[in-house]
Formats: sequence, C-alpha cells, structure tokens
Amino acid sequence: MRYPLVIGNWKLNGNKTTISELLTVIKAELNSFTVTCSVVIAPPMIYLDLVKRYLDKSLIMLGAQNVDIHISGPYTGEISSEMLKDIGTKYVIIGHSERRIYHKENDWLIAKKFSILKKIGLIPVLCIGENEMEKNAGKTEVVCAYQIDSILNHLDIKAFENIVIAYEPIWAIGTGKSATPSQAQKVHEFIRKHIAVHDAAIAKRVIIQYGGSVNTHNAAEFFSQPDIDGALVGQASLNAYTFSAIIKAASIIKQEKLDS
Ligand code: PEP
Repeated sequence: MRYPLVIGNWKLNGNKTTISELLTVIKAELNSFTVTCSVVIAPPMIYLDLVKRYLDKSLIMLGAQNVDIHISGPYTGEISSEMLKDIGTKYVIIGHSERRIYHKENDWLIAKKFSILKKIGLIPVLCIGENEMEKNAGKTEVVCAYQIDSILNHLDIKAFENIVIAYEPIWAIGTGKSATPSQAQKVHEFIRKHIAVHDAAIAKRVIIQYGGSVNTHNAAEFFSQPDIDGALVGQASLNAYTFSAIIKAASIIKQEKLDS
C-alpha cells in the first residue's frame, strides 16, 4: 500500500524569521487535521538544523536539496550524506533539473549521489523529466527511461526499494504551466511499468511524485490519479496556507481511496 508523500522544496529561499513564521502556521494548520500522507520539508542546507528543531515532535520530516558524493575529505563547500543523517535528515533530493542545468550535474554524478545515499541509509528523491523541446519531439518516455536506467546501469534494481521518484517535466517547474493530471498519469504509469520490467513488486511499491507548478487548485486532481503518489512542491511550499492545503488534499484523497 503506497501512501502519498508531499515534499516542500524551499530552494534558495527563507531566513530565520520567515522559517519561524512558515513552520508555526503549517503546524497550527495541521494540528487538528488527520494527516494520512508523509510530509517532508527541504530547506536550504544552512537552515536544516533550525528547521529540525522546529519540527521536533511533529510528523513532518526533514529533507535536503543536495548531497556530495564523498563522505569526508578535501571537498571544500560540500556536505556529506553522513552529515545530513547526523543532523536528522531523512530524504535527499537529487537530479533536480535546476542542479542539472545550473550546476551541470550529469547522470553519472546523480547515480553516484543515489548510491551514497542508499549506502548511508537516506532516501533519495530522484528527479527526472523532459524539457520542452523533448516534450514537443515526443521524447518524454525516452528521457525518463534513460534517467532511470542511468541509475540501474550502476546499481541493482533492489536499490529502488524505499526510494522516491519525482517526475518533474522541466517546462512545468516554476512556470505556472503544470502538466495536466492525465498527461502526468500517463508518464507515471510508464515509469512504473519501466521499473516493473526489472521487479514488479518494487515497481508497485515505489513512490512516484509529480512536480511542476502544483498548487491548491490542481493538487487534488493530481492526487486522484492511480499512479501519482503526492507531489514535490516548489513555489507553493513557501506559503504556509497553500502548502498545508496541498497536504490536506493528499490526505483527503488517500482517505477516500482507503474507504472505497
Ligand atoms: C520544483 O522545483 O521541484 C518544483 C516543482 O517547483 P514549482 O512547484 O515551483 O514548479
């Protein structure tokens, strides 16, 4: 049985004051609500510990937006998986298109990050997805398959146990132009089938989130799709009320699915 996962990716946003305000309201909004999805907040690295302390005794878990491939050593400016674990992080976003584009991260590096996270016992949130040109050329499935296979070329399918895949069409990220729920569902179904070729049971269990301009208006319809297990949320996670509403939508839809 898969439970949806909602992750707030704060990217390069926030300060001590806004974090305090945001988390106070989110906690209050969810206080008297039965949350039946998993929730993660991924703040900028420098605020991980602060956010962790705010989240004490809360169901919300801690996520990081990046990780280095090394455990320790002469790698100035980097943060290791062991350090993230030490501070209480559970999930780590890798392969985000902003890192692929602005930091020139390639599939080899992303596979290394995936591998070190599994080794240390953190959960990779592997972002995959096509750009607008690839979409228009009908290459969405080819791109997603390639990005998944570039991990499986290095690791056994068993490494896909207890991981998260975030399908994030690049043209939908931060543009306000989300995929339609049925478009996204088709790609999610393809991703699950692609993994099932290697291991049907793992494919059935793997969490596949949608990401790309999820908001309070479209969240419920995404979550109603059979293969969409929650969302990776950027912009809308910076507003306590919209982020809480998305968490509530995921919980309500899950409860409806459980009841039906
Ligand atoms: C993201 O960056 O992962 C993302 C989905 O952003 P947004 O929700 O702002 O499109």
